Amino acid sequence: MEQERTEIQDLGEFGLIDYLTRNIEIQNASTVLGVGDDAAVIDHFGKQTVISTDMLVEGIHFDLMYTPLKHLGYKSVVVNLSDIYAMNATPTQITISIAFSNRFSLEALNEFYEGVYAACEKYGVDLVGGDTSNSQKGFIISVTAIGEVTPDQFVKRSTAQKGDLLCVTGDLGAAYLGLTLLEREKKIYLESPDVKPDLEGQTYIIGRQLKPEARKDIIEFLQQEEIIPTAMMDVSDGLSSEILHIAKQSNLGVVLYEEKIPIAQESKEIAMKFGLDPTACALSGGEDYELLFTMKQQDYDKIVLNEQISVIGYMADISEGAHILTKGGNKFKLVAQGWNAFKQ
Ligand code: ADP
Ligand code: MG
Repeated sequence: MEQERTEIQDLGEFGLIDYLTRNIEIQNASTVLGVGDDAAVIDHFGKQTVISTDMLVEGIHFDLMYTPLKHLGYKSVVVNLSDIYAMNATPTQITISIAFSNRFSLEALNEFYEGVYAACEKYGVDLVGGDTSNSQKGFIISVTAIGEVTPDQFVKRSTAQKGDLLCVTGDLGAAYLGLTLLEREKKIYLESPDVKPDLEGQTYIIGRQLKPEARKDIIEFLQQEEIIPTAMMDVSDGLSSEILHIAKQSNLGVVLYEEKIPIAQESKEIAMKFGLDPTACALSGGEDYELLFTMKQQDYDKIVLNEQISVIGYMADISEGAHILTKGGNKFKLVAQGWNAFKQ
């Protein structure tokens, strides 16, 4: 069956915007005015407003050869919401700006927006605006997320205290392994297009790469347990680099235990198959979008039964530096390699 292809030119810019935004139903009382005017209007009713923005560029941040547009739309929103949750805030609105070449049809943009709206619905945020432009080559996406927080309950990176527990949610390294797998399959495909991709049994790591989730559940859990983390951020660049951000900005040292780093069984198996060290994937792989936070030791009893939260170390005096204690009993200086270090 041939796929339909509607040229964007047939609609024009305003027709396109109308088409892409025709079904919006406002979900938040704070959304006073959404799409359709010169600007959106938001009333956070005495709360503080949190804003974060991100840009995604084809060929740099995503590869359309193995990224379905719907997943891309979903992920573009989720990675921004993750930044809002990382401030201990609740996202309420997003704006989304896109630039695309004439390679993109209405059907393609529609698929992308299906993912955008799926994320809006899941996380309860309103799409209240954006901008639409042409690009000479490639697809460029910019998302701004807006959220609310009870006055002065936002959580920074710089306020961890000596002796605080260092915690991380979910498991780490899988998104990087998913990317490695997809890149490998792409290479094989380009060399011999007839070979069927071997993605059997690897849905977990691929899902973690293509369709990440933001930890709304954890922010709700912390609120319910009346825990305000002393510092927090999301894990987008790899655990070691994020831990060093909290330590440096809080003027502290840190001790991390390798054996405590949560890594899924599926990730361990795939890492072995690729000849990669699972711990290295967690430390330096990126895009897990888990939350890394510090909290007072007194709060430990409140989180101990939550399987989604692992205590992986503690904050120390700055004179102790930043170290990882390995399973073999060695002590190494923690370095931020970022996921680039793994790129072959
Ligand atoms: P202006 O010329 O005042 O910037 P636009 O014509 O760019 O207005 O946009 C009209 C309305 O449509 C605005 O509310 C804007 O936020 C919204 N909008 C534009 N592009 C998009 C998009 N890609 N997705 C969602 N909303 C959009
Ligand atoms: Mg505009």
